[in-house]
Amino acid sequence: MNECIFCKIATGEIPCDKLYEDDDVVAFSDINPAAPVHILIIPKKHLPTLNDIDDKNAHLIAKMHLVAKELAHAKKISAGGYRIIINCNSDAGQEVFHLHLHLLGGKPLGPMIACR
Ligand code: 5GP
Ligand code: ZN
Repeated sequence: MNECIFCKIATGEIPCDKLYEDDDVVAFSDINPAAPVHILIIPKKHLPTLNDIDDKNAHLIAKMHLVAKELAHAKKISAGGYRIIINCNSDAGQEVFHLHLHLLGGKPLGPMIACR
């Protein structure tokens, strides 16, 4: 049985504030936003992390970025700017192990998070 929360969001089993959907990806508002605009873009296919991307599914990464660009335009943050983040595994703080892209914007985001 698949207990993945983002798989359940993708199938509609768990509700979300859905902003976009096609055959490959779903985009929805983050439940705990870190910026005025904080959208998650996921592939419908269950891939735990970016490490699971290969030649066969790499088109999903392109699609996720294209959807991010379109949603940034729709949310009127394209000109001001925005940040895209994919956390991969524990050192990056990944909490949900279903690949997702964060689209963040709507205010000056400051320097990139500390890596020191
Ligand atoms: P990660 O740290 O794995 O890169 O990010 C996981 C993100 O998923 C977090 O920003 C968290 O707020 C968000 N999140 C976790 N559970 C849910 C949920 O049930 N619904 C929505 N919309 N976002 C969620
Ligand atoms: Zn999943």
